[in-house]
Amino acid sequence: VIKLQNIKKSFNDNVVLEDISFTVEKSEVVVIMGPSGSGKSTLLRCITFLEEPDRGIIRLGDKEVEAGLPLNKHRKKVIRELRQNTGFVFQQFNLFPHRTALENVMEGPMIIKKMGREEAREKAVALLTKVGLADRMDHYPAQLSGGQQQRVAIARALSMEPMVMLYDEPTSALDPELVREVLLVMKELAKEGMTMVVVTHEMSFARDVADRVVFMDDGVIIEEGTAADIFKNPKEERTKKFLRDVS
Ligand code: ATP
Ligand code: MG
Repeated sequence: VIKLQNIKKSFNDNVVLEDISFTVEKSEVVVIMGPSGSGKSTLLRCITFLEEPDRGIIRLGDKEVEAGLPLNKHRKKVIRELRQNTGFVFQQFNLFPHRTALENVMEGPMIIKKMGREEAREKAVALLTKVGLADRMDHYPAQLSGGQQQRVAIARALSMEPMVMLYDEPTSALDPELVREVLLVMKELAKEGMTMVVVTHEMSFARDVADRVVFMDDGVIIEEGTAADIFKNPKEERTKKFLRDVS
């Protein structure tokens, strides 16, 4: 579903992504790991052009955009479609503070998909129920725990029926006891066949859920494989060092 070819991104003269190529198949769960500053967030952001790569080609489903060309009407349209087909979940939940959980989830389908209020509500109720928040729909973000807010954020991303879900350290802002409920929801979605790319340091999630683990450092993919390959038999010295440091 996702194909990245030769993605390169610099900020001024700081090269952050150096010729990254990688693909994600339908229903695949890919976990990206790597030290701070290795370019993980930038890579996720480049997939949706939240950050425009300097060079490279990004394909999502049948939509393809080549980076580094002038923005014309057609390219803007494809980039918009690319974003609409991607659900993004951030470390900070980024909910609208003055809207209830339900309103947060109804917003996208109503505004962007022009869905009617009733249909959007039904859909939002179903999604919030699915993430275990049937009894919290009318709460405002400030009235919810971090784990609950993050589950609302996941429901909100799902409301747009994305082809893929991208998660950038979805549990790292959470108190340890709230991490599990968010990972469980993600695991459930993975089981249902959702395609996802997850930046996380949660080894147990990678072990239980990931089809593939990608280890990045300094803007390059150092190695990739199954969780067992990467955690038990890392080939590269940098991977070994990282695993020693995090465990
Ligand atoms: P972390 O684990 O700390 O989240 P990361 O792997 O996600 O790290 P990135 O956030 O992608 O790393 O950052 C990679 C490099 O790009 C860093 O050196 C960072 O300072 C730089 N960088 C990221 N965003 C910007 C920006 N908007 N402007 C300038 N430099 C940036
Ligand atoms: Mg990051």
